[in-house]
Amino acid sequence: MIGRASKKISILGSTGSIGRSTLDIVRNHPDRLKVVALAAHNNWQELLKQIEEFKPLMVALYSEEAAEKLRYALGPRSDLELRTGMEGLLEVASLAEADTLLSAMVGSIGLQPVLEAIEAGKKICLANKETLVVGGELVMAAAQKCEIPIIPVDSENSAIFQCLGEDDLRFVDRLILTASGGPFRERPTTTLDTVTPAEALRHPNWEMGGKITIDSATLMNKGLEVIEAHWLFNVDYDRISVVVHPQSIVHSMIEFTDGSILAQMGLPDMRLPIQYALSFPERWLASCKRTDLTALGMLNFEPPRFDAFPCLKLAYEAGRRGGNLPCLMNAANEVAVDSFLKGRLSFSAIPKVIKETTARLPFSKKVSLASLLADDDSARCEATAMVNRGFGAEPPPTAAASSQKEGARALSRHAK
Ligand code: MG
Repeated sequence: MIGRASKKISILGSTGSIGRSTLDIVRNHPDRLKVVALAAHNNWQELLKQIEEFKPLMVALYSEEAAEKLRYALGPRSDLELRTGMEGLLEVASLAEADTLLSAMVGSIGLQPVLEAIEAGKKICLANKETLVVGGELVMAAAQKCEIPIIPVDSENSAIFQCLGEDDLRFVDRLILTASGGPFRERPTTTLDTVTPAEALRHPNWEMGGKITIDSATLMNKGLEVIEAHWLFNVDYDRISVVVHPQSIVHSMIEFTDGSILAQMGLPDMRLPIQYALSFPERWLASCKRTDLTALGMLNFEPPRFDAFPCLKLAYEAGRRGGNLPCLMNAANEVAVDSFLKGRLSFSAIPKVIKETTARLPFSKKVSLASLLADDDSARCEATAMVNRGFGAEPPPTAAASSQKEGARALSRHAK
């Protein structure tokens, strides 16, 4: 079977929304795609089902505890290679039998496995946008050196990639990323403080994991995509703009020097950009619903509300300054979003935690993998300590809480 399949893929994040959609595509194209390795964070039950159906050669679970449960469920006779921790993710990413890595992990944890896969000569289908946000400079340099293509899976950057085709970038004036605007597009700024996690998780057009859904509601998701686009297509930030398009039918556009605009359209279904990343440069039949233009009605476009959603501006600023700033911003955002989902931080405090964290940590223009990993860690400690101190929460901290606050700050400095 392996010999006949044209593409042998490893999937990082196979139990998440993108991972499951990718396996759906594999199901539809068994003659073209073969899964050779799977990795997930801790959802061992879902991974077990995937193992039974797709029979990979190797799997990895980041969580040791979940891996123990999976090992027990597989039984002593299983000869499946089961790995754990970051080492396990790196082994899955660079497995000799694979030719393509689809990275759909959530967060900056995806950076090292992608670098490892590039070094091992794998073609990269990239859904994990934090990889390029944090380590864009390193990843693109490695990809260039090893002559590895990086194909975007994210619907917006896939749209740009599809619109660009063979066109010469010299004739492209501007990339225009569309944003749905999220569930609070029309909500008055003054009431954003009272947003609950349940409300923020109700995305109008896309069904996605928790982290990206909250990022969509704060517009940080668009900010991360702007930085991703900068690295993928080597375009200055001044030539990347964002337009809010509530119907999510136009997935993004490019504007040429002569003012002509090219758009990629379709109903919102992630299986389309995922499949295109896997089929590129070919196009295969897809099981997605076809777009009936006459049923669409109006398509609207409006400017983003930069003041109501400060995360988008923070991302532009971090991208423009470069260096370790996008890494610090991203780590602080990951902590802030997680804290918001756990009810420990208000919605409008998310950008405040990011701003404060990045302001407190040293900026450095020059980065390496080691320095980025250390910066990622420091920013997480700083942001976590800030949330623990009750930053952005009402009422303001009492004297007792602020002495605790000093303690937490001292602790965060000494944390690894
Ligand atoms: Mg997107």
